[in-house]
Amino acid sequence: MQPLLTIDNLAVAFDTYAGQVQAVRGISLTMLPGEAVGLVGESGCGKSVTAHAIMQLITRPPGRYASGKIDFAGTDLLQLPETALEKIRGNTISMIFQDPMTSLNPVLTVGRQIAESLELHQKLSKRQAAERVVELLEVVGIPAARERSRNYPHQFSGGMRQRAMIAMALACNPRLLLADEPTTALDVTLQAQILDLLRELQVKFNTAILFISHDLGAVAELCSQVHVMYAGKIVESAATAELFANPQHPYTKGLLAAVPRLDNDEKKPLAIIDGQPPNLLQPSAGCPFHPRCPQAMQICTEDYPETIKLHAKHSLACWLQHPAAPKPDRE
Ligand code: SF4
Ligand code: MG
Repeated sequence: MQPLLTIDNLAVAFDTYAGQVQAVRGISLTMLPGEAVGLVGESGCGKSVTAHAIMQLITRPPGRYASGKIDFAGTDLLQLPETALEKIRGNTISMIFQDPMTSLNPVLTVGRQIAESLELHQKLSKRQAAERVVELLEVVGIPAARERSRNYPHQFSGGMRQRAMIAMALACNPRLLLADEPTTALDVTLQAQILDLLRELQVKFNTAILFISHDLGAVAELCSQVHVMYAGKIVESAATAELFANPQHPYTKGLLAAVPRLDNDEKKPLAIIDGQPPNLLQPSAGCPFHPRCPQAMQICTEDYPETIKLHAKHSLACWLQHPAAPKPDRE
């Protein structure tokens, strides 16, 4: 099967008053049609910037740069002019944001906001669009959808607003949905419902989902493949079951140890990863995780470990298993 999305060596940097922030530093990944892929890591690791780069929300303003390739169904998005991108955004690629309250327009009814993209991209009449809006609100499980479509966002609960955002993102049957922490602002029950809904939609409409989260538990629910990001780099990638059963990167192990478990009988405290998140203004030459890594060696402070393939579906950027790592001294 041809990949739907191939990101090749994507780098994104911003100019700030303090200097240039290197938010994404050469990441590569592929997604197949209909596949759900997770991108996980702490806040500030470059997950959202990656999604925004795919949507081209960040490369246009001055002082922001992106290099590499984002091949979507055979077209390099980074090379497309703005007019062509407008046809793709919200149509074949759409995005769900973390906070629906700031992404929905408070002065338009929910129905009108969803209808606008249908009128723009699908060339539906006002009447056709209004009918389709009701169907979409029903698909995402909003009761009394016809009446509700005439409500304003503030008349919706948090969970309903997130559902409305998903309905809006799905309005044009996107081939790729970028979901940036879509459940983070919700309570646990609602989180589970939204994840179920995303899985249902993925299967029903064969939508590929790039699911961005700091929550490995949520990623495991939805995604077949996971990429772990740290300091703008992908440090480990594997099939989800493999990553959970056989994590290799010390950072991944730390993230997994921090996932709450229902079988935590001994009431062990949750693990946290010691130390500060990395400074992306002056990334060090070595492995960016070395100041926090319990297994750091001399070489980790000097050189970045290039990604190696452990096997077909598992790759790792860490000196511990790198064939070029210096052998430990034996006396
Ligand atoms: Fe730790 Fe070194 Fe591996 Fe980085 S390369 S994660 S510092 S062992
Ligand atoms: Mg983010």
